[in-house]
Amino acid sequence: MSTLVQISILPHKQKDEAYILDLALTKAKLRMNAIRDWRIRKRSIDARRAPVKLNLQIEFWKKDEVQKKHSPYVLNDVNNAKEIAIIGAGPAGLYAALRAIEGGLKPVVFERGKNVRERRKDLALINKQHIVNPESNYCFGEGGAGTYSDGKLYTRSKKRGNVLKALEWFVHFGADPSILVDAHPHIGTNKLPKIITAMREAIIEAGGEVHFNSKLTDFRVNHNQIEAIQVNNDRWFSFTEVVLATGHSARDIFYLLHDKKVKIEAKPFALGVRIEHQQKLIDHIQYHGDDDNPYLPPASYSLVEQIDGMGVYSFCMCPGGIIAPCATAKEEVVTNGWSPSKRNNPYANSGIVVSVAPEDLPGNKADDPFVCLDFQKMVEKKCWEIAGKTQRVPAQRMIDFVEGKVSQDFPKTSYQPGIVSVNLNEVLPPLIAQRLQKAFIRFGQKMKGYYTNEAVLHAPESRTSSPISIPRNSETLEHIEIKGLYPCGEGAGYAGGIISAAIDGINCVDAIIRK
Ligand SMILES: Cc1cc2nc3c(=O)[nH]c(=O)nc-3n(C[C@H](O)[C@H](O)[C@H](O)COP(=O)(O)OP(=O)(O)OC[C@H]3O[C@@H](n4cnc5c(N)ncnc54)[C@H](O)[C@@H]3O)c2cc1C
Repeated sequence: MSTLVQISILPHKQKDEAYILDLALTKAKLRMNAIRDWRIRKRSIDARRAPVKLNLQIEFWKKDEVQKKHSPYVLNDVNNAKEIAIIGAGPAGLYAALRAIEGGLKPVVFERGKNVRERRKDLALINKQHIVNPESNYCFGEGGAGTYSDGKLYTRSKKRGNVLKALEWFVHFGADPSILVDAHPHIGTNKLPKIITAMREAIIEAGGEVHFNSKLTDFRVNHNQIEAIQVNNDRWFSFTEVVLATGHSARDIFYLLHDKKVKIEAKPFALGVRIEHQQKLIDHIQYHGDDDNPYLPPASYSLVEQIDGMGVYSFCMCPGGIIAPCATAKEEVVTNGWSPSKRNNPYANSGIVVSVAPEDLPGNKADDPFVCLDFQKMVEKKCWEIAGKTQRVPAQRMIDFVEGKVSQDFPKTSYQPGIVSVNLNEVLPPLIAQRLQKAFIRFGQKMKGYYTNEAVLHAPESRTSSPISIPRNSETLEHIEIKGLYPCGEGAGYAGGIISAAIDGINCVDAIIRK
């Protein structure tokens, strides 16, 4: 058993190991000569009051105590092992493939998009020329929606062992070990592609297969057991185990399942806008005026309010980030955000979204699985139309939005395709717009300075989670009606973010191994 102690230090002392050790030894009532080793086990920022402090959890091992090492990732040779199909190379699909190898199965991954390097060209096209490639974009391609993201790696999952395993695999494939220590770890868009590439190379080295430009277009079921999948409307492959990890934006998969009478269900999701402030302002508010402190990272925030019976909350806040065009088809606009590892852009963006359940929506019919998806599509298309049918998005300053005035001009935005001044109250459905208005005023009361006309709303933020779930057996994790089909990750409704999707990928393959 090791000894754990909690200490608090000022940020400028964070590199001073002797100081930290001395403080922690005193707190633990231990002497240096009784210690074999020590480490910082957890690090978090305590900005609740000035001065801002770092909370450190220090772990000591005494001379007679054994230090538990992390178990490394094991790459088995699976060349001749039983094959399983994995559809989608997002975090869920990649972690499913890695777990398959560890468990002695051969993963065959089919990904509709391109590899990370090729994918970059399509991101440039959407940013600069407003061209959306429906197979390769910010959501589709190697690494999935998580590749060009902020790479925040925290989750609400309480199963610490699972989270640690997912993080350790990130470190094994090249992430900075600090993600194991930070309470709010993040990787950054510039570093993620290299890590994703290393994962793919390991899968292939072990004997697995990764096929890009390979879209699942059909599947065959025999006596409630999956038996084959079709790729690119052309070739058929026999598989009795298929992990379906296609993400929340693969609408064609939802339509395919529905057309083939496979049960899917409408699921609550959230929709709103992406707001952008100057990062300096957020630092100033969160760090109580200590915004020039070089020892503190760009500040983040998390806000939540109940407004007229619905939750309104900040989502995927990106300090020092950029707002990205995340459409996956023509005739729609969608926003989301990313940050580089240093989070050193001058902007702070965040989704501010309203929870929407099927029963909240007008025209909701019992058993219509598409009620939330249709609502999401309607808003994305309306925003595309009103902003001129390009990848420009409708925008409005925050106070102008609350007061219903069209903004006359804008501060510089990070959203590269550009913005168009619009009264968002006329674009967003009233159940969203009216709650956002009230929420912004309340957020301003909680975070003094947040409610400012220097902040700009970009619409819509609509791909917060899947508007559909694919029901599965809670024991076997197979679809409730089809054996061998494992709905997995965010698109199936079992994850919300990189780490929870990765964990669900592991869980689905564990279920196959158990079987
Ligand atoms: C810009 C941006 C920033 C984000 N930032 C963060 C963040 O900081 N932290 C965080 O936790 N989450 C973030 N997210 C969300 C996160 O990326 C997702 O929660 C996560 O990627 C979901 O993983 P998944 O594997 O379930 O699905 P996805 O990542 O969506 O992967 C699905 C994959 O399936 C492929 N696919 C789809 N249809 C088919 C088909 N028919 N055949 C074959 N392949 C198919 C897709 O091309 C895609 O690669 C962000 C998302 C975006 C878009």
